[in-house]
Amino acid sequence: MAKVLCVLYDDPVDGYPTSYARDDLPRIDHYPGGQTTPTPHGVDFTPGHLLGSVSGELGLRRFLEDRGHTLVVTSDKEGPDSVFDRELPDADVVISQPFWPAYLSAERIARAPRLKLAVTAGIGSDHVDLDAAIAHDITVAEVTYCNSISVAEHVVMMILSLVRNYLPAHQWVRDGGWNIADCVARSYDVEGMHVGTVAAGRIGLAVLRRLTPFDVRLHYTDRHRLPAEIEAELGLTYHPSAADMVPHCDVVTVNAPLHPETEGLFDDALIGQMRRGAYLVNTARAKICDRDAVDRALRTGQLAGYAGDVWFPQPAGPDHPWRSMPHHGMTPHISGSSLSAQARYAAGTREILESWLDDVPIRDEYLIVDKGGLAGTGAHSYSTTAPKGRAG
Ligand code: NDP
Repeated sequence: MAKVLCVLYDDPVDGYPTSYARDDLPRIDHYPGGQTTPTPHGVDFTPGHLLGSVSGELGLRRFLEDRGHTLVVTSDKEGPDSVFDRELPDADVVISQPFWPAYLSAERIARAPRLKLAVTAGIGSDHVDLDAAIAHDITVAEVTYCNSISVAEHVVMMILSLVRNYLPAHQWVRDGGWNIADCVARSYDVEGMHVGTVAAGRIGLAVLRRLTPFDVRLHYTDRHRLPAEIEAELGLTYHPSAADMVPHCDVVTVNAPLHPETEGLFDDALIGQMRRGAYLVNTARAKICDRDAVDRALRTGQLAGYAGDVWFPQPAGPDHPWRSMPHHGMTPHISGSSLSAQARYAAGTREILESWLDDVPIRDEYLIVDKGGLAGTGAHSYSTTAPKGRAG
């Protein structure tokens, strides 16, 4: 019988919800491109309920306990006295989410001789030392595509809210004001602007598609060009590099993985090549943007706004400059953990567990590491010496 150790974020401060804003979720069977949404044999949760926090348990308890397995769920994951560290040595399976990652370092893996499966309930397994997982023959799997559209929606929301100056205007209302001039002195239309994405993979392309109706001019850079028919359909202008693209853009969104090529990409020099008053939205990885360069550019006006949901470190400390810099629209790391996304990644986690427990192959697109090497999606997106940091 397996022991499954699951690390999830804390319940809401006012307790686990007893009712929800909506009664159900739209039914989605396929992602763009045709991949099916998760297909477990069953689920023991109500889609639309909070599943990603400790009391939600990803809806796994009944399924696992009915089969005689043990489920331990905790949010306490840091330090040698944490529940995670205490429970790890005899765990067979570890599950965690990129929003609240249980870092499976080489040292921790060395202290977990029974560990055979690490599941990311979400997308991105760079919190797992993949070299150590390979060396210890641990399978690493994630729920590919489960929250890509969720993130794309968050990006579009952030672009609109920065350009229209939504958050400060909302604050005037909350403060009892009617200060129209204060609200509109930084408010523009997106229409006609040039918007570019650094990378046009699942999220980047979904952002481009969602922006098309706003009558903006769309740009992208990626290591590979999109098919000519997609470029024509969306009216895309391709640029060979971010440095080539940013001088043309009023808004830039970052949707590339973190790896040596992208780490620190948006530094003083690149931000300096952007149009004065451009907006930068980064939901990919914090370290793609130089923390202090962003802060400086907002203070000088080189950037008119910055938003995103990824920070370094996570959770960010109370003094992190991105909490207090001007003209920002940051959220905690939430874009991929809407209730809609949770229903998909909880079902995907269940599908992965069903396969693994029944000795049936896990879907190739969910695999990152298997049988002692990178596999499936992992073989395309990760390298073993420098994990690409796709967590999200
Ligand atoms: P995909 O793998 O579908 O797309 C990533 C794209 O980036 C690929 O087309 C890749 O090209 C391209 N790329 C890689 N390096 C560069 C580079 N140096 N310059 C330009 N393009 C590059 O990933 P997703 O769209 O699903 O996710 C993108 C990123 O978003 C993730 O890496 C992750 O960091 C983040 N994310 C954030 C989440 C959140 O909750 N905030 C949730 C999910 C993801 P190639 O085909 O050559 O690899």
